[in-house]
Amino acid sequence: MKVTIIPEKCIACGLCQTYSAVFDYDDEGIVKFTNSQNLSQEVPETPETLMAVKSCPTKALNL
Ligand code: SF4
Repeated sequence: MKVTIIPEKCIACGLCQTYSAVFDYDDEGIVKFTNSQNLSQEVPETPETLMAVKSCPTKALNL
């Protein structure tokens, strides 16, 4: 599935990485993909990653 990150909406709460290792953070705690600097990419559709996307409080993660 394709996930898009909107860093401007991220409040660096740290929640998404607790659900899925697909997500990591930059030096300021803003979300990024673990293995790239892309803002949009295909990731495996797992319950953990779906939970991470759905749990983001600011909708910084989108399907
Ligand atoms: S859950 Fe949302 S607001 Fe929190 S760190 Fe992840 S992308 Fe940012």
